[in-house]
Amino acid sequence: MPPEDRFIRSPYFSSGRASNSNLVVIHSTRSGQSDRVPGWPALESREKSSTINWFQDNPDGVSSHLLVATDEIIRFVEDRSQSHHAGEHNFYSWGIEATQPTVGTPFTDGHYAMLKKAGLHYVRGFGVPIKHASVNTLSRGGFIGHDETPQGLAIGKDDPGYKFDWDRFIHSLEAGGEEEGEEDMAAIDDLKKELAELRRAIWSQAVANRLRNDAQDASMARLLQNIKRYRQGHNYVHQFIKK
Ligand SMILES: [Zn+2]
Repeated sequence: MPPEDRFIRSPYFSSGRASNSNLVVIHSTRSGQSDRVPGWPALESREKSSTINWFQDNPDGVSSHLLVATDEIIRFVEDRSQSHHAGEHNFYSWGIEATQPTVGTPFTDGHYAMLKKAGLHYVRGFGVPIKHASVNTLSRGGFIGHDETPQGLAIGKDDPGYKFDWDRFIHSLEAGGEEEGEEDMAAIDDLKKELAELRRAIWSQAVANRLRNDAQDASMARLLQNIKRYRQGHNYVHQFIKK
């Protein structure tokens, strides 16, 4: 199931991306449109519509993969392509925008529910690690604010800013596999079996022991990360044996 409720293609994207893409950059919109009239409230709904319009037609050619509003997720660029959201980081990252009219506007429960859905899409689909990344850990991937990236720091970005609750967001991703009922329990069982098979196929006892530990510590997101990692390790081991 794709995370988005709608797909409104943006003309602003670049083909292809790094095969080891592992970073998601969180932005907030601050379009400057929703509180244009002095004294008028800055409305989230107007922020959403002005951002949709902006990603169809803007002079800088900017876009994101997903826009998270309080009530839906809208896609603009396919995951296999780069959206134009964070300069030099575009090649190995995906961009998620959250609607926020001003720097001081709080994010809602709806935002966090939609951010969880969008975030887990990248965790499960692409093995993005569940962690709040920083400048120093950028190459290991995870989730990072635009205001924390080297590109964002260089040009003075302040989104998503101080109202964004990183602990709440990361915890919601960690809890993801455990809250979603029987369907996921069946999927977790399948993943455990796959891990066990991978374990049998790997000659290194140290790796096998690690796999056994990971299978016991089984949230779905963690299992998927481990499977991706061990598949890569497995391929590596086989290349090594052939040489
Ligand atoms: Zn941004």
